[in-house]
Amino acid sequence: MLLKWYEEHKRSLPWRDTKDPYRIWISEIILQQTRVVQGYDYYLRFLERFPDVFVLAAASEDEVMQQWQGLGYYSRARNLHAAAKVIANMGHFPTTYEEIRALKGVGDYTAAAISSFAFGLPTAVVDGNVYRVLARHFGIFTPIDTTTGKRVFRELAQQLLDEQHPGDYNQALMDFGALQCIPQSPQCTDCPLANTCVAFSTTSVDQLPVKSKKTEVKTRYFVYLYIRCEGKILLHRRGAGDIWQGLYEPPLLEFEHKAEFDEVVHSADLPLDSRYRLVAEGVKHILTHRVLLADCYEVNVPAEAFSILIERGYTVVEEKVRSEFAAPRLVTRLYSML
Ligand code: SF4
Repeated sequence: MLLKWYEEHKRSLPWRDTKDPYRIWISEIILQQTRVVQGYDYYLRFLERFPDVFVLAAASEDEVMQQWQGLGYYSRARNLHAAAKVIANMGHFPTTYEEIRALKGVGDYTAAAISSFAFGLPTAVVDGNVYRVLARHFGIFTPIDTTTGKRVFRELAQQLLDEQHPGDYNQALMDFGALQCIPQSPQCTDCPLANTCVAFSTTSVDQLPVKSKKTEVKTRYFVYLYIRCEGKILLHRRGAGDIWQGLYEPPLLEFEHKAEFDEVVHSADLPLDSRYRLVAEGVKHILTHRVLLADCYEVNVPAEAFSILIERGYTVVEEKVRSEFAAPRLVTRLYSML
């Protein structure tokens, strides 16, 4: 039933017309936290620049980050790069679920996806779409974000897997969740599974799937200082253990609240004759558990003060080549407002 539905509704995507594990791997990593519409162009550009795993392994981290710029969740790019080096050393892409699962940045879902799509291995994928379809169709109220819930859904998905066509079956189930059994207002009236759907027959569709926790969203207040002098600016490279690790941004101040101008001047600790101009205010950037609100000041400082600031450990960059330094999307939005 599901495979028949898939034949008619299958989304045509470039990474589906291939069995090349490298291409499938890249697409799966991009799609881990990015929507298909947004990830599509990145996928094509990434493959154009890094057509195989050996080219990717030989590239510098800065180059990889530059290609990833704007996609967010940059640890994905760093892990991809590290894993590419491991694969290049092996001389070929790993071919078993366990070896694929051992690659950096590859979790249960991604390993099952690559194993089944590229190698036809009987490994069931469980992503958000699969949780939703199974919870509704079988009327399962066990919360999906608990250890028990994860086990129950993983076992059920594995039991249901069509071992003759594991790749197509996995894609079909995920597409079904993405197109038919969608989170809000699923299309139950013309659903081919409606006859056997527990949630539909018990009118509990909108209660499933169940989650045990609500995520608390925190707001953080950023102030960027775009410090400039004679065509040069200062950038800071984000360090380890950070979602933006390896990316460049102007010097940053962080506050618990929206900072007033005099607070910014006080915390910036720049020479008194620096000239400030507010270029952006309250620019919103949403992350999974956080909302960032960013202000940006352009600060022109005199030449002698600039050389003192360089000693604070910033990278000095010619303003006209700023775009060569990969930056978080929030920062590129601020750049466009300067
Ligand atoms: S009947 Fe509705 S809830 Fe049940 S599987 Fe179909 S779309 Fe999903």
